[in-house]
Amino acid sequence: MRHITILGATGSIGTNTLDVIKQHPESYTVFALTAYSQMERLIACCRYYHPSLAVVANAKQAEEVSRGLKGKMLKTEVLYGEQGLIAAATDARVDTVMAAIVGAAGLKPTLAAARAGKRILLANKEALVMSGQIFMDAVHQYRSELLPIDSEHNAVFQSLPMDYDRNLADRVRRILLTASGGPFLNHTETMLAQVTPEAAIRHPNWVMGKKISVDSASLMNKGLEVIEAYWLFGVPANKIEVVVHPQSVIHSLVEYIDGSVIAQLGSPDMRIPIAHALAYPKRMTSGANFLDLIRQGSLTFTQPDSTRFPCLDLAYRALDAGASAPTVLNAANEEAVAAFLGNRLRFMSISNVIEEALETVAVTQAKNIEDILEIDAMTRRIANRFINQETIH
Ligand code: NAD
Ligand code: MG
Repeated sequence: MRHITILGATGSIGTNTLDVIKQHPESYTVFALTAYSQMERLIACCRYYHPSLAVVANAKQAEEVSRGLKGKMLKTEVLYGEQGLIAAATDARVDTVMAAIVGAAGLKPTLAAARAGKRILLANKEALVMSGQIFMDAVHQYRSELLPIDSEHNAVFQSLPMDYDRNLADRVRRILLTASGGPFLNHTETMLAQVTPEAAIRHPNWVMGKKISVDSASLMNKGLEVIEAYWLFGVPANKIEVVVHPQSVIHSLVEYIDGSVIAQLGSPDMRIPIAHALAYPKRMTSGANFLDLIRQGSLTFTQPDSTRFPCLDLAYRALDAGASAPTVLNAANEEAVAAFLGNRLRFMSISNVIEEALETVAVTQAKNIEDILEIDAMTRRIANRFINQETIH
């Protein structure tokens, strides 16, 4: 029996994780569920999964959840704030932590899970992008086990040899991350200048949270994933490439020096990588549809267009610059995406804000997580100055 904490239980990844767990009640129990909004939903999940702990954002929410669980014969303790998240991630009764909070907010609890030596199922790519070296050092030092949930990285993981942490660079010629291209793949620059948040969050193949949906539309999601792959698999940036594959059937590929290419395929359903990581190294059913290649027909591949979608190149630039540059990239992107979703910034200006932030904030070497959070906060202030300067019309 595995005991699981789900950080971000009410989100898209959290909901899919609970769905997989529901199919295997004999193998998994839910220890803690955390949420930042949607208290009704959290209460409903607590009533069904009976966690020992529920964590919310503030005292008012904690009261609401406690009230909602009253008289239900549940022994769910309700905590709030950062300390609550860290308790959920590190409790001695937990062995597996699904890190599915969106953005920088997930960093501290995910890092705490690593330091507590947990098995981490990593969806929260922003945490790794902003603190790559420090996070990976903690994983190694405390013998935490890191399993990727991001479909591309889960595919790469499945396509690598079991002893992949040894001498991978000698054997692997390239890692090819596939990108769907998002909802604006075939938009002209004129069309891109006018897209709305509503259009940006309507992804053709996946139903996801708003932030990652906008990232998919701008291709920044793929940029973050290049950095994520760099840290997860320890291959240099020039061996990580992106190919646009609109059908989202091949989730990524590994090319070996002998010319062999190994890939993982499946229907676009996050329950597949989630079930893979939950059961690893075993296998179990996920509830996803099986892939029907005949019905699928053709699979196509093209190069990403860096003129219409400059964010991918910005991510490579940040990775090349190293040190704090990916932290800056991530923080500026989070602020720009929030401004776009709030109708304060045009879609095409997202990359301008990130580029200006990268050019303005000096590259420094963070020594600890406090340094990272300081760079993150400073970048957000600077990014907001640029956001206010960009005209919306
Ligand atoms: P989502 O917006 O649907 O859910 C986010 C979850 O985090 C919610 O439970 C929310 O309550 C919680 N949360 C938000 N802000 C918080 C804060 N400040 N403090 C604490 N909790 C907070 O997002 P999602 O689509 O499920 O994505 C989650 C993560 O997984 C992201 O990092 C995303 O990049 C990654 N990911 C998602 C998918 C997908 O298919 N949705 C695929 C790959 C990777
Ligand atoms: Mg992905």
